[in-house]
Amino acid sequence: MMRPYTLLCPDCGETVEDHYTLSCPSGCRALVRTVYRKKTLDIRDEPGVFRFSDWLPVEGTIKSAAGPVTFRSTALARDIGLRNLWIGFSGYWPEKGGRVLTCSFKELEALPTMVRVRETARGRTLVVASAGNTGRAFCQTAALTGMPVVVVVPENAVARLWTTVETDRVCLVTVDGDYADAIAVANGLCSVQGLIPEGGAKNVARRDGMGTVMLDAAVTLGRIPDHYVQAVGSGTGGIAAWEASMRLLGDGRFGDRLPRLHLAQNAPFVPMVRAWQAGRREIIPEEDMPDARASIAAVYSDVLTNRSPPYGVGGGVFDALTATGGSMYSVENREAEDAGRHFAEAEGIDLDPAAAVAVAALRQAVESGKIGRNDAVLLNITGGGYRRVAEEHERYRIEPAFRVAPDVDAAVLGARVLGQVRNRA
Ligand SMILES: *Cc1c(COP(=O)(O)O)cnc(C)c1O
Ligand SMILES: [Zn+2]
Repeated sequence: MMRPYTLLCPDCGETVEDHYTLSCPSGCRALVRTVYRKKTLDIRDEPGVFRFSDWLPVEGTIKSAAGPVTFRSTALARDIGLRNLWIGFSGYWPEKGGRVLTCSFKELEALPTMVRVRETARGRTLVVASAGNTGRAFCQTAALTGMPVVVVVPENAVARLWTTVETDRVCLVTVDGDYADAIAVANGLCSVQGLIPEGGAKNVARRDGMGTVMLDAAVTLGRIPDHYVQAVGSGTGGIAAWEASMRLLGDGRFGDRLPRLHLAQNAPFVPMVRAWQAGRREIIPEEDMPDARASIAAVYSDVLTNRSPPYGVGGGVFDALTATGGSMYSVENREAEDAGRHFAEAEGIDLDPAAAVAVAALRQAVESGKIGRNDAVLLNITGGGYRRVAEEHERYRIEPAFRVAPDVDAAVLGARVLGQVRNRA
């Protein structure tokens, strides 16, 4: 059966069928992207993210109310001095329709990814490395679908892994190390037959899932906004917003201009900000992230500390910023904390620290004149509502199945992980 989309490599122009394909079969480095047969966006009658299934690489759905919501800001807009500020909110805020129970836009990525696995991965089990938010989103999705998932996190992130539905579908591996160590262990696991990497930025279901924030905004505003503001660690959300905007241009009903991307990182760990401001496509570790370990330990929002983001690759962050006339911002901890506090007072919901970084960047962009007072702005609040979820929902902690050292033998661990996954199936 022909699927309703193909995958395109922007480097060589080759088009391929999707078999949970994460990269160009000819070996190009560029990010492959989806090309949907359907060029106009119709909103489906679904409660959450799957109302945008026209432009998601899936055929089926998952019953979940989690999806993006867009609303016009009054209090924060007045505070910052904007007349046309829109908030894209991915988190828990029932009064606004926000039903992302794990409280970050990672759930918008996890939902279509799990459907894509079901439809294209031929029975293999997904392995996800995470610093917390991604892992929690996949745990919740595993709980909803009954599909197994292997989640690998650094030991100190284990408290961030919970679901609002009890589940035994998660095989949790904790690594005595940092996020980079967890990634290495997850990569090792994926060399074992039957386990596949989730893929991060290379996974089109993740990007197009995040892209629904832009789609929801365009449908709500009736047009593509002039500006898009987000805090980034990998920058995948920025790439996704650009790709979604290109599809909206192709649709023709939402305007004829791409939004400018305004992407922020949390100082002192700001590798993409430095490379971009130096006009470079490459991140030079010694210049752009000196003392990486210490800088990562010092930031307010640690979900923004990716050491190898898809910045320079074809179709990556550099290309997205270039195509949209975008900018990058460096936000200090204190600025972010102040912005988060202000937001909570003005709009009435608690923010993920990463979202607070985005609010601070918006303030910088307006003060520097990069965003005009009358411009239509989409502020992506990528996470929030943790307090409300804690008040209103039961949260079940995910217990580790394996605690390992960074130098664990991947083949041995892989066999044990697979054994456990099959035992529970
Ligand atoms: C992962 C994450 C980000 C950064 O997203 P990328 O686009 O992948 O860099 C921002 N905010 C929250 C809440 C996140 O969990
Ligand atoms: Zn190619």
